[in-house]
Amino acid sequence: MAIQPRRMTERIYNDINAERERQNKKWGLQTHSFYKWMAIINEEMGEVCEEILEADAATKNGVTSLAEQHEANMREELVQVAACVVAFLEQLEREELTHREAVV
Ligand SMILES: [Mg+2]
Repeated sequence: MAIQPRRMTERIYNDINAERERQNKKWGLQTHSFYKWMAIINEEMGEVCEEILEADAATKNGVTSLAEQHEANMREELVQVAACVVAFLEQLEREELTHREAVV
């Protein structure tokens, strides 16, 4: 039976939340320039691309199990990209809150 779309979305968001918690434990609260956030996010995107290329090469070489591993790694890297984007958005929210408090 196919997975329900809502449950699929819920699982994805749970994975992103878990990755955000892992990042916070590892690095603490992150505050960066917009340029640095884009560098971080694109570094993670590079890792997604690397896994795609590795999966493609493994498929061409007929090593299906290796291709599947790289596809699983690609999904993990995509979750990391999403979590980094969320962390960037969290910084924007914190800065907006600080700005609002300063104006009031
Ligand atoms: Mg990564």
